[in-house]
Amino acid sequence: MIEKSQITQILQNYKNDRYRLMDILLDLHKIQNYADTETISYLAAALKMSRVEIEETISFYHFFSMEPKGKYNIYLTDSITANMKNRKGILETFEHECDTKINSVSSDGTFGLFTTSCIGMNDQEPAAIINDVVFTNLTAYRVRELVKGMRNGLNLEDLMYENYGDGNNADLDVRSMVCNNIRKKSIILKKDYKPYTFVKSGIKKFTPAEVVQEIENSNLRGRGGAGFPTGLKWRFGSQSQGEHRVIICNADEGEPGTFKDRVLLTEYPEMMFEGMVAAAYATGSDIGVLYLRYEYTYLVRFLNRILDSMRKQGYLGKNIGGVEGFNFDIRIQLGAGAYVCGEESALIESMEGKRGEPRDKPPFPVEKGYLGYPTIVNNVETLVTAVKILHFGAKWYSEFGTNDSLGTKLLSISGDCKFPGIYEVEWGTPLTEVMEMCGADDVQAIQVGGPSGMMVSLKDLSHLNSTQLMKWYKPSGMEVAERFIDRRLSYSDLPTGGSIMIFNNQRDLLGEVVMNFMEFFIEESCGSCSTCRNMPYVMKTKLKKILDGHGVKSDIEDLLSWGKTLKASRCGLGQTAGNPILSSIFNFRHLYEKHIQSLTEYDTDFDLEKSVQSYQKFVQKEPVLFHMK
Ligand code: SF4
Repeated sequence: MIEKSQITQILQNYKNDRYRLMDILLDLHKIQNYADTETISYLAAALKMSRVEIEETISFYHFFSMEPKGKYNIYLTDSITANMKNRKGILETFEHECDTKINSVSSDGTFGLFTTSCIGMNDQEPAAIINDVVFTNLTAYRVRELVKGMRNGLNLEDLMYENYGDGNNADLDVRSMVCNNIRKKSIILKKDYKPYTFVKSGIKKFTPAEVVQEIENSNLRGRGGAGFPTGLKWRFGSQSQGEHRVIICNADEGEPGTFKDRVLLTEYPEMMFEGMVAAAYATGSDIGVLYLRYEYTYLVRFLNRILDSMRKQGYLGKNIGGVEGFNFDIRIQLGAGAYVCGEESALIESMEGKRGEPRDKPPFPVEKGYLGYPTIVNNVETLVTAVKILHFGAKWYSEFGTNDSLGTKLLSISGDCKFPGIYEVEWGTPLTEVMEMCGADDVQAIQVGGPSGMMVSLKDLSHLNSTQLMKWYKPSGMEVAERFIDRRLSYSDLPTGGSIMIFNNQRDLLGEVVMNFMEFFIEESCGSCSTCRNMPYVMKTKLKKILDGHGVKSDIEDLLSWGKTLKASRCGLGQTAGNPILSSIFNFRHLYEKHIQSLTEYDTDFDLEKSVQSYQKFVQKEPVLFHMK
C-alpha cells in the first residue's frame, strides 16, 4: 500500500497543482500500480478537487487503473499487423504461461495481461510493453522464456532476447531492443545539418517575423495528418494576446501503423527540440512542452538528458542564443494511453490533468489553449522539417515534392512487405513505387493514413513497373484515368500522416482488417458525441451481419449513409471513424457484394428466435429492470 508520506511527496513535487494531475497519477502508479479509494480521497482533498474529477481522469486512460494490477503488467498490442503476425498464438501462450486471461490479473497477483491499441512498433510485431520495457518480435518460445524469467525474479532488461536496437536505441539511457529500421533517407533524414546551428547563429540572422515569413514561404504543412499551414499557425500564435505563449510538440502518434515519430525522437531529438526553440522565437513563446505518448516512456531519460545538455549550452533558459529577453524552456509531459489525445485540444485537456476530450472550437488553441494561453501545437516531423527549412531556405525546400504538396514525407510502412520501416519520399511519389521500395509484390490493398485514412488498391496496373508508370505519367488528358489507377501520395490525392499498411491477397480485408479498425475506433472514442459513441458500433454490427451471410442490398446503402452521419462528430476521430467501411466499400465493393444475398431486399434466413437470444438472456439475468418477477 502506498504511504501517505509518499503521496505528500509527489504532491509537493508538483506544488499541489491540480493541472499536473497526469504527472501526479503517473508517479503514483510507479509506486503502486493503481489508485485506491483512500488515495483518491487524499488527492481530491489536497488538490481541492472532487473525487469524481480524479476518477474521471483515471478511468479515461489505458495505463491508469483503480483496480490492483499485477507485479508485472503485460500490454499486448492489438494492431492489425500484430494480428497478421500471430498475435493470437502469442496471447494464448501468455495466457497459458501466466495462468490468467486477457484483461485480468493472475490469482497470485504476479501477472496482469492486457490488450492495448497500437504501441508504435508495427515494423517489429508482435510487440508488448511489460512494466514500460518494450519487447518486440515475440514468439511463443520467447514468451515462455520471458514469463519463466519474470517468475524467477530476473530484471526485465536482462530478459531481452535480442541485442539492443541500432543507433540511440543502444544508448545507456535508452537500452531498448527497438530497431529504427530507417530504409530510405532524403532531405530531412540526411545528416547534413549540425544540430543547434539555428540557435547558435541563425537566430541572430532572422527577426521573429522573418522566421514566420520563411516558414510561410516554404508552404510547410503540418505533418500530423491535418496539413494545416505551419507558417500561418505560427503567425496566428504570434498575434494572439496572452501573459504567456506555449509551444507544444505533439509526440502522441497513436494512429495505428505510425512509428516515424518514434524514430525521430530516437535519432533526431536535438532537431526536434531546436524546432521548438525556433517556433518559440518566432511566436514569442516562453513555455515549451513535449507531449510524449506513454508507450514511448523508454525514451524519457534519454530525452531529458538532451534537454539538460541544451540548458547547459544556453540553448534553453534565459536570453537564448544571446537574444536579450528570449526565455524559453521545455518539459516533457507523458500521456497515459489515449489515441484521441493526438487531437490538439484533447492533448491540451490531458496536459491540464483532465480527460482527453476534444474541445469545442472556436476558440482555437492558437487563441486560447493550454491554461488559457495562446498555444501552438506542432507535430515532431513538422518541427524537424522547419529546422531544415530555416537552415537551407524556403526556396531549397520548394524544389522537392509537387505544387500542392511541397517537400518530403516520412512513411511508416508495415504489413505484408519484405522491408517494413521508415521511408522518406517526396510528395507525389506513386504508390506503386512505394510498394516496389518496400518489397511488396502481392498487394491486395494498402491502407494509407491509418484506419482514419483510405483503403486503396493498385488496381490493374500491377503488371507495370514504376519506371513504365513514370513514363506514362505526364500532364495530359490521361490525368484523370491515371489518378484513378496510379495513386500518388499528396494532399490532393492520398494525404497521409505517414501510416502505410499493406495487405496481400491472402488477407481477409473485411473480416480481419476492417473489423480490427472499427474495433479500434469503438475502443478509442471519448464518448462525448452520440454519433461517435454509437455509429461505429452499429456499423460494425451491420458489417458482421453481412459477413455472416445475412446481408441484403440495402445494408451497403445503410453503411454509406451512416458513415455520412458520423461526419457530424466533434473531432477528427469520430468524423473518420466510418472510413474503414466507407473506403472499403468504395474501392472493394465486390467483397461486400460477395456476401450479400442476391437481389433480395430482406434477409430470407432471418431467425427471430436466434436474434433475440442475447436479449432474453439479459432479461432473465436482470428481471427487475423489466418489471418481471
Ligand atoms: Fe470524442 Fe468521438 Fe466526439 Fe471526438 S468525435 S469528441 S472522440 S466522441
